[in-house]
Amino acid sequence: MPIDATLPYDDDNIFAKILRGEIPSNTVYEDDFAFAFEDINPQAEVHALVIPKGRYVSWDDFSAKASDAEIGGFVRAVGEVARAKGLVEPGYRLLANIGAHGGQEVPHLHVHIFGGQPLGPMILNR
Ligand code: 5GP
Repeated sequence: MPIDATLPYDDDNIFAKILRGEIPSNTVYEDDFAFAFEDINPQAEVHALVIPKGRYVSWDDFSAKASDAEIGGFVRAVGEVARAKGLVEPGYRLLANIGAHGGQEVPHLHVHIFGGQPLGPMILNR
């Protein structure tokens, strides 16, 4: 079920538990600002998720409230993961779902990194 991205942060969400190490994940990258891991249900040959370490529900929450250091660190981490996965030369796609229309299911900001294959059209034909 898509979430309401305007709700307060829920410390019991699944990515908060992954960040705290309470639920296992296949870690791809970690630094002071971000954590990256493999998606449990990959939608492409490469499908990683990058999340900020701070308590942010969505891109909206993060872009409005995070510090410049958190935003800079997170954006750099997304680039680091893509480079580490060898995705720059063949190309890749970033996606952040926000709220109901975006189809966001986990209420902790995450950027999807897709790659390893041609990814087709950007969005389903209407
Ligand atoms: P959203 O629809 O919120 O943008 O994407 C949520 C993503 O989180 C989905 O691609 C889903 O497969 C992934 N996911 C949900 N639960 C878990 C989990 O427990 N572990 C991992 N690694 N990925 C998860």
